[in-house]
Amino acid sequence: MNLSAFGKKFGGDAGITTLMDDISSALSSGRDTIMMGGGNPANIPEIEAIIRQRLKSLANDPASARQLLGSYDPPQGNSQLIDALAHLFSKKLGWPITRHNIALTNGSQSAFFMLFNMLAGEFEDGTHKQIQLPMAPEYIGYADAGIAGDLFTAAHPTIDQLELRQFKYRVQFDHLNVGSSTGAICVSRPTNPTGNVITDEEVEQLDALAQANKVPLIIDGAYGLPFPGLIYTPATPFWNDNTIVCLSLSKFGLPGVRTGIVIANEETIQTLAGMNAIINLASGSFGAALTTDLIKSGEIIDLSQKVIRPAYEAQLAFAQKTLHRLMDPAIPYLMHKPEGTMFLWLWFKDMPISSQTLYERLKNRGVIVVSGHHFFVGITDDWQHQHECIRINYAAQNPQLIAQGMGIIAEEVRRAYIS
Ligand code: PLP
Repeated sequence: MNLSAFGKKFGGDAGITTLMDDISSALSSGRDTIMMGGGNPANIPEIEAIIRQRLKSLANDPASARQLLGSYDPPQGNSQLIDALAHLFSKKLGWPITRHNIALTNGSQSAFFMLFNMLAGEFEDGTHKQIQLPMAPEYIGYADAGIAGDLFTAAHPTIDQLELRQFKYRVQFDHLNVGSSTGAICVSRPTNPTGNVITDEEVEQLDALAQANKVPLIIDGAYGLPFPGLIYTPATPFWNDNTIVCLSLSKFGLPGVRTGIVIANEETIQTLAGMNAIINLASGSFGAALTTDLIKSGEIIDLSQKVIRPAYEAQLAFAQKTLHRLMDPAIPYLMHKPEGTMFLWLWFKDMPISSQTLYERLKNRGVIVVSGHHFFVGITDDWQHQHECIRINYAAQNPQLIAQGMGIIAEEVRRAYIS
């Protein structure tokens, strides 16, 4: 088949597709596999019960079922959900927004595709603009989203060594190159894969930089505030007219409904709604049907703080304790301070094998993690650090399997350093 440049780029071997294929072939190999690789959220019984109940009442009410299944929502998204969100954000967070500041997309992944390509890439005047990531590692899902090539640029972070075998990445503002070839700045907060939460001061500095250069600041809150709230450190939700906040229902426990939420100025929202009409006609209605009541009542924030966050915090505490118990203390392993998300980001300093080789050895033993090198989006040099890290999801399995997986990780890391 003779594919266009677009067809080749998007139908070919993008990093994320190769990784997903590799993970699914390991899973379908018939062997027992301990999955600590993907980004699936935890199964939280209390949330599942609420959603099941909501599904039942929808199915039992012909008018609601017809509205859910039998009509298209507007390209900007389901109006009831948008109104409920506008009310929630202005009342609970004090953001000066109305329904004209919100659009719904089929998952936030599709929002990023539209936003990145409308703000960066080729411009009519022949210039090429990029998305500036304040630092890498960053979310792998951005890496291949550009219709034009070379869409991202990122700076190296500084690495602060902390106590208890922890470290933290910080933005090196003097290494950022924001200027006429920047289309937007984008950061995930909390960050996938590291669990970093950039500080309020860093957010304010990024906002000032974005405003000074007349480009938007995109904050990816897929794990963040106000829901699902997977943040275990003080952090203030941030929005203004120059900020584009992207949220999602996925990590609240609903990745299957594919609902992304974009909060931005009216012009951005109108542009997104137009694109959504062309690409999708309308966004799916399921997320709205399942959560509008929870959002209207504000219950979604209570559930995030009182049910979801504590469930993840308990899993995090178990994962950290188990890892330290199982790892050989003579190995120079470090962990990014886990301030958010559902991941541990482990750094094996000066490890004699690459993180990709470690990934393969672990896969051969039935444990799936993600090699860290995939996440250094926008880094063009061969920074050794990118071959020394792995990401593990500590929430998508039961504790017994997590401990078993960590035992195998500890053995393989020891073997890598010692033999
Ligand atoms: N942003 C980050 C940081 C993510 O980790 C993910 C998914 O794992 C997404 C965005 C996309 O999520 P969704 O398309 O399910 O809303």
